[in-house]
Amino acid sequence: MSDSRDVLVVSPARPHQMEKLAQEYVLHRFDQSSDRDALVASVADRVRLVMTTAGVGIPAGLIEKLPKLEVITSFGVGYDSIDVAACTARGIRVTNTPDVLNDDVADTAIMLMLATLRRLVVGDRWARSGNWSKNGPMPLTTTLNRKKVGIVGLGRIGKAIASRAEPFGVELGYFGRSEQGDVSYQYFNDLLKLADWANVLVVACPGGEATRNLIDMNVLRALGPTGYVVNIARGTVIDEPALITALRDGIVGGAGLDVFHNEPHMNPAFADLDNVVIYPHHASGTVETRDAMGQLVVDNLVAFFAGKPLITPVN
Ligand code: NAP
Repeated sequence: MSDSRDVLVVSPARPHQMEKLAQEYVLHRFDQSSDRDALVASVADRVRLVMTTAGVGIPAGLIEKLPKLEVITSFGVGYDSIDVAACTARGIRVTNTPDVLNDDVADTAIMLMLATLRRLVVGDRWARSGNWSKNGPMPLTTTLNRKKVGIVGLGRIGKAIASRAEPFGVELGYFGRSEQGDVSYQYFNDLLKLADWANVLVVACPGGEATRNLIDMNVLRALGPTGYVVNIARGTVIDEPALITALRDGIVGGAGLDVFHNEPHMNPAFADLDNVVIYPHHASGTVETRDAMGQLVVDNLVAFFAGKPLITPVN
């Protein structure tokens, strides 16, 4: 086994963390390279670790060009942008950054829920545009109190959302492939039944092929014209054209969205809808949480090069 300390940086951790790593390891900056093919060819015989982020993933064909690759560290908890099955087949370990972002992502779900039901952006515009002084109060909104909140994917983040929603006096239900033993919320083994029951559907499951278009027009119709969708999971989990039609035609009441298809090139149709609150995939985007995520990337990298067990392995 090679003992090289060579790292290919496809997408970095935080700048101060990268500066520190550069003192101990040989960082090859794929992210900054003007000739990536030449860079990869020149380091392929010694790169043992690739550093990336969930948003960027691994470029097609890169893994095949790195015969010495042993570990991929990813900044982010979702790993749908990495072919983990192919990595496992080649004996490549993948790490992610779970738990440290639960609080900020769950806070964002609550923020989007309140902002959507209470029409925060519309109200802000109402006041700024002078409508308030000219035309009086904005139209009434709807309360979150006593609503039924259905969570799709009650994992680490889903549970953090549920515990934050509880003090609003909501009823909680959830859908997933299995019933969770450690909660008393109502379990639905059928997503359509959860959507039919819920006033607010919060999507918090992983992205990837298994959940692609899980929230389709049937689910949106079941949620209904007084129902709302909040998505902090991945854009791919929702059939986006169906959602846009549903929002435009009043098939659902509104949506609070942190994630989209084809980011950062969000479908411009969303920008024309005033029953949508948009956040640009920034649920974990605080200095504190991004530092903690980056630190977990660093800790996994250091553990690997020290021959110690990985801290947060995915496979
Ligand atoms: P987690 O702990 O693994 O929880 C995932 C949950 O989804 C589990 O309860 C799981 O339950 C359920 N699930 C898995 N596959 C499913 C399927 N096919 N259908 C329905 N439910 C399914 O993951 P987490 O840490 O909470 O993170 C969840 C996701 O949030 C991540 O994968 C990521 O994509 C997203 N995320 C987004 C942001 C952001 O910035 N917006 C930040 C962090 C994470 P069962 O196994 O019982 O089905």
